[in-house]
Amino acid sequence: MPVPLTYRLMLLVMLLVLAVNVVVYLALLGLVGWLGARLLALDVSDSSDPLRALAVRGLVLVLIGAVLFVLLRPLWVFLRRGRMPAVVVSSRDEPDLYAFVMTIAGLVGSPLPERIMVINDVNAAAGLESFFQGRLTLYLGLPLGALTCRQLAGVVAHELGHFSQRSGMRLTWVVRRLETLWPTLIADLDRSRQTGRPSLIVDTIIYRIPRVLFVTIHGLTRPLARAMDRQLERHADLYEARVAGSQAFMGTAVRLAELKYAARETWSAVRAGQRTPQVARAVIQAHAAQTEAFRRAVVAEVSAGVTRWQDTHPSDIDRITYTAAEQAPGVYRCEAPARVLFRDFARLDQLATSLVLR
Ligand SMILES: [Zn+2]
Repeated sequence: MPVPLTYRLMLLVMLLVLAVNVVVYLALLGLVGWLGARLLALDVSDSSDPLRALAVRGLVLVLIGAVLFVLLRPLWVFLRRGRMPAVVVSSRDEPDLYAFVMTIAGLVGSPLPERIMVINDVNAAAGLESFFQGRLTLYLGLPLGALTCRQLAGVVAHELGHFSQRSGMRLTWVVRRLETLWPTLIADLDRSRQTGRPSLIVDTIIYRIPRVLFVTIHGLTRPLARAMDRQLERHADLYEARVAGSQAFMGTAVRLAELKYAARETWSAVRAGQRTPQVARAVIQAHAAQTEAFRRAVVAEVSAGVTRWQDTHPSDIDRITYTAAEQAPGVYRCEAPARVLFRDFARLDQLATSLVLR
């Protein structure tokens, strides 16, 4: 599938943002190093009190150490791995599911996922384990068992579309980490400040200045990262339309919106103390119990959606309009419930549920 020009342009812009992130960060480290060297080189030896001179040097060293700690923490947080509570599905246990995914990969000509994992969200995702480990993982939400096979084929095609964006996938990985990195550090700074009451100078150096800096970098990164996310989503949506058809796209979007309501209902029951050993099954049951009037309201809500700058995905109606323009007839047709693709849905559901409820 041809890569749209806007997508390439977006990657370029993102590279620029990354460069700004890195340059600002390195410049700051350099500045601290330079200031530290200047302070240590100050001649305090003629002071009448050698002990005082030593104390001044010690203080400078401690201060530089504190600033370096504040500045080097981002690297550590950035490289730390994030984990999603997911259950690995083996091809031996679930051969039909693997065959289904491989068929779709063949249809869209995407790389094959190296493994499939199931989660309990009304969602699917394409994941790269880490920046260095390029292992492709397909995450499938078990509540998607309420879709038809054709709808799920579309959703899987969308995720495999992300695999095809592999050139952009590492970049996306970095950008997504950066996007969450700065808020994490800001929250960290705020928390550490509550524990002590340092002097104004120390507070300014290790709290105020880094905070303003982190807020600024985050402010620059976020809108662009989100715009890139939406561009990647549009591109992946074309894969979905090609497999399930432009017509089916709307049905899938509405069904997913309905399922999200069912999931919200289920989770609030769980939080209220209702014990559910199989969350996905409960979500699918809650979905089946929705009234026609409720579903009409969901359709109205989907149709009225708007895309805002801070959204990672375009609004459903924008995606529907965009894929409708493709007028793709679709190649995968099977209206059976997607649950039939699983040999042992209940077991996976129990495992995934115990992971999130633990
Ligand atoms: Zn996507």
